[in-house]
This record gives sequence, structure tokens and C-alpha cells, in this order.
Amino acid sequence: MAKRPARFHPRGPVNPVERQREADQRRGSARSRGYTAEWDKASAAFLDENPFCEYCAKGVFGPVDTVSADLTDHLYPHRGDQELFWRAIWWVGSCTTCHSGPKQRLEGQGLPFINALAKRLGRPIRS
Ligand SMILES: [Zn+2]
Repeated sequence: MAKRPARFHPRGPVNPVERQREADQRRGSARSRGYTAEWDKASAAFLDENPFCEYCAKGVFGPVDTVSADLTDHLYPHRGDQELFWRAIWWVGSCTTCHSGPKQRLEGQGLPFINALAKRLGRPIRS
């Protein structure tokens, strides 16, 4: 007889506060990764100068559109590397949709894809 397929049970806590706490333990809290008050200030200044999502404006992840930037994205994932974190040449104004969806997936595809994106945005390749 066919076995009933296992049901999907997400691992870890379902409570969002608990989930966040676990994520922080895995990769360090946002603050410990560099998202300090100083960053908030620098990011706000950057977004004043770059008010639109550059990914949307250049049609990187879909049709060209003009959408407000919600945040400053690090083109190259910094993983807590403070030098990379503060390299403004690789800051990109991004909407939440681009940042949390296609950009995350692209980062998962690896460095060649990020390099291709850098080229497309007219940024230097990280060497
Ligand atoms: Zn966007």
C-alpha cells in the first residue's frame, strides 16, 4: 500500500518574535551586522539622493517601472563585513518587493549573477 506522504512541518518556532530571535542567533542581530543608527542616517541620506528603486527603474527583475525605494540594498551581500557594508558604490535604492524577492534569489545563485547585476547597473565588479 502506498505510504501517506509526510506532512510539511516548518522547523523552529512559528511565533514571529521567536523566529526573529532564532534568526538573530544564527547570523547575528541586525545591529551586530552593522545596521546601526549611523547606518540609518547614511541610508536615509542615500535614499534622499536616490529616491527610486533602481532595480525597477532599470527593469532588472521585470518590466521597467518607477517605484519608490524603501531601503538601501547592498548589491554584494556583506555578511557583516564592515568594509563591504560601507562601500557606497555598491549601495542600491530598492523597493521591498525587489529586495525580498528576486534580489534574494539572485544572491542565492552566486557571485557571477551578482557581478552580472553590477554590470547591468553600471557598477564596478567586486574583485
Ligand atoms: Zn523594485
